[in-house]
Amino acid sequence: MNFHVMTLFPEMIENAMEVSITGRAMKAGHITLNAVNIRDYAQNKHNRVDDYPYGGGAGMVMQAEPVYRCYQELVKKCRKDSGVRVIYLSPKGTVFSQSMAQEYAKEEDLIFLCGHYEGIDERVLEEIVTDYVSIGDYVLTGGELPALVLMDAVSRLVPGVLNNAESACTESFSENLLEYPQYTRPEEWNGKKVPSVLLSGNHKLLAEWYRRQSVLETARRRPDLLEKAELSEEEKKLILDCV
Ligand code: SAM
Repeated sequence: MNFHVMTLFPEMIENAMEVSITGRAMKAGHITLNAVNIRDYAQNKHNRVDDYPYGGGAGMVMQAEPVYRCYQELVKKCRKDSGVRVIYLSPKGTVFSQSMAQEYAKEEDLIFLCGHYEGIDERVLEEIVTDYVSIGDYVLTGGELPALVLMDAVSRLVPGVLNNAESACTESFSENLLEYPQYTRPEEWNGKKVPSVLLSGNHKLLAEWYRRQSVLETARRRPDLLEKAELSEEEKKLILDCV
């Protein structure tokens, strides 16, 4: 997976991606990162990339031309000549989800466009953007944190990035359920014991416990997810009993 990021703050992207699991994944060659400064594509003496909005109003707007020139350079570095997804991080976009992360993880290249100030001239968005993605119903100062959120979630789904290939498929949102509660040593902490089934070593009992706890956890915390989950009659009854 090759991530390309158009941003005014490439160091913000690089610094965050270089640590922990994504950093290791880059070193191992499972993902690559190419964060490019849109300012390098400005064509004026002071490298300005923003200007006042037509019609007035608060703040500044990023100009179309530097963004377009930056995109034209980036797209040359992608494997495909056309059809590369260009994701504009925007509060107006579709709210990001695990299923979108799974879809993006199938791509070879992804281009992210991070806005700043009041946003970006609409004309270049019309020209290059394929996907509008938001990370939630609130407004941030720039698209860098949202781009990092997407790259982190997508990276975890790229083969080889996680040590234990299983961990991504038993996690929250797979099968529209939340993950079961987790415990580690010591066996007793603050008077609370680890559920005894987890010490049993009985795989059948463990699998049943994980599934049951996932269903209950989802019913308690995110009942909206259950509408799309495939549940047995017994599990439906379990939910009715717990609410
Ligand atoms: N004026 C814009 C509006 O009201 O929709 C908000 C612009 S915001 C201050 C600057 C940039 O931050 C946006 O262009 C976008 O790239 C990014 N951004 C802000 N909030 C975001 C969110 N919730 N999800 C994704 N990107 C966001």
